[in-house]
Amino acid sequence: MVEFVNWSGSLAFTPGEHAEPATEDEVRDLVRRARETATTVRPVGSGHSSSPLVRTGGILLSLDRLSGVIHDDGNAATVWAGTRLKDLGEGLYDAGLAMDNLGDVDYQSIAGATATGTHGSGLGFGNLSTQVAGIRLVTGTGEALDISAEHNPEVLPAARLSLGALGVVTQVTLDVQPRYELKRRAWCAPVDWTLDHLAELQHTNRNMDFYWYPRSDMTQVRIMNRADDVAAERPWAVPRVPGSGPWEDPREVRVGPTHRTIPQHRELRFEEIEYMLPSEAFPACFAEVRRRIRERHRRDVGWRVLVRTIAADDIWLSNAYGRPTTTIACLQNTSLPYEEYFRDVEAVFRQYGGRPHWGKKHWLTARELRPLYPRWDDFQELRRRLDPDGVFLSPDLARLLGKA
Ligand SMILES: Cc1cc2nc3c(=O)[nH]c(=O)nc-3n(C[C@H](O)[C@H](O)[C@H](O)COP(=O)(O)OP(=O)(O)OC[C@H]3O[C@@H](n4cnc5c(N)ncnc54)[C@H](O)[C@@H]3O)c2cc1C
Repeated sequence: MVEFVNWSGSLAFTPGEHAEPATEDEVRDLVRRARETATTVRPVGSGHSSSPLVRTGGILLSLDRLSGVIHDDGNAATVWAGTRLKDLGEGLYDAGLAMDNLGDVDYQSIAGATATGTHGSGLGFGNLSTQVAGIRLVTGTGEALDISAEHNPEVLPAARLSLGALGVVTQVTLDVQPRYELKRRAWCAPVDWTLDHLAELQHTNRNMDFYWYPRSDMTQVRIMNRADDVAAERPWAVPRVPGSGPWEDPREVRVGPTHRTIPQHRELRFEEIEYMLPSEAFPACFAEVRRRIRERHRRDVGWRVLVRTIAADDIWLSNAYGRPTTTIACLQNTSLPYEEYFRDVEAVFRQYGGRPHWGKKHWLTARELRPLYPRWDDFQELRRRLDPDGVFLSPDLARLLGKA
């Protein structure tokens, strides 16, 4: 048996079987067989999550062989669920198209990224799941279900972000745009300058986020705008701090199509916790996190803290459900201990009504999660309908979602 190890190395297990079906019919047969033999199936994408969503002693099912753009009509593109975001970006680009927004890397599969609400930053952009207009799903009975505004529409707000709990997604239909170029700029600034200008930076740029460096108390501000948006060229008067250069770094000014400009290349491995906060709670929560890290963890924290925004949506298990969201992500080198640090900041995030990123480290179970999601019970009811025998309900998922 081959061991599965996730990207950061903090999740390792040996499934009973690795399956790589090459057709949807093979997926359906496999799910039917699993149901008959009471074996658990967990779909896996590129293994970039560090929460134990894919852990199973049963069948680990990868759609790596189901990849590529199937068709597009200029406004929407249907793609195989195993398509990696990088290949998706190139495939759409060749068709003259682009996704509206992306996260910080492009290694994930489209099914895996949307299953956990992967997001980028920008007041006007929801997470990637909000770009999903349709899904084809193999349910726990082996049935293939089309889900969209026209077909089974009542399932759509659950299926757009489903943690692989409703079935195996085989195809995803995405809302897309004609392709265009973005310009990325980045500069360093003292954290107080960034916080003082935060609302303005967020409102006047298409995408804005910032890294805070606990040891120096400096930030790196990152903005992106359409390359043809002349109004976005405004200079920002950043105060100079002796010894830690502010200034726009020309190496960080980059122009290119969305899929090559938004994602970054990451070589160093890290562990991460990220919580989604109601945006109005961000200033107080960030102040508390900053104080706590500098007082208790600065000596051991090797990495930065990332702050981003997500538009509100109506997807049942989305951590931006019903509220404009600001996220705080704490990163730590994989060579350093993370648990004490992450548990400490998690307590702060929870005080401010935070919801954890489904694919990153957190310690919440169904008991704590249920009150955070107004449509929680509806999701569970639908899960029981689509997967009556719990084919996809691993012990980890049962802890996360509750058994009932
Ligand atoms: C370096 C790095 C950078 C990251 N950057 C960001 C970022 O900028 N923004 C952000 O929000 N997150 C980010 N993440 C988190 C990452 O996007 C999520 O964890 C995402 O879910 C990983 O996708 P994956 O393809 O690896 O899926 P996996 O981690 O393999 O699986 C994730 C979930 O998807 C389900 N799944 C996978 N395939 C299917 C399928 N075919 N049908 C049904 N369910 C399926 C799995 O069962 C599981 O529940 C980052 C993670 C890393 C390691």
